[in-house]
Amino acid sequence: MKKQRHSRKSPLQQKIALHRINTLFREAAKVFHKDKQLANRYVQLARRISLKYKAKIPQAYKRMLCKNCLCYLVPGATVRIRLRQKYMVHYCLVCKNIMRYVYRARGKQKAKTKDLYTISYLTVVTK
Ligand SMILES: [Zn+2]
Repeated sequence: MKKQRHSRKSPLQQKIALHRINTLFREAAKVFHKDKQLANRYVQLARRISLKYKAKIPQAYKRMLCKNCLCYLVPGATVRIRLRQKYMVHYCLVCKNIMRYVYRARGKQKAKTKDLYTISYLTVVTK
């Protein structure tokens, strides 16, 4: 009999997973100035939970995690953020990895939320 490797996770499990992810990121922010290694461990745990339970890490937290070395990113301490014309460039100071995120002025964003084409285009770029 074929064994299913990835079982489906219930919505409740996903909800708990999301709660744990939030808690881990909050704790990481608290301990970062005392113990950087521990902060890294917390966010890596959060990432593993998100993968296992297929719970998405909230966008704000996702950008605090380096996609290459998986360390916790704090602006000014472990990440340098620069704004380019359309992108927000995150430069990880630990592994020198560069991540780009679509950036928009706040006023413009509101006017274009109705435009579905722009939204779908945006999601493609950020991934
Ligand atoms: Zn990195």
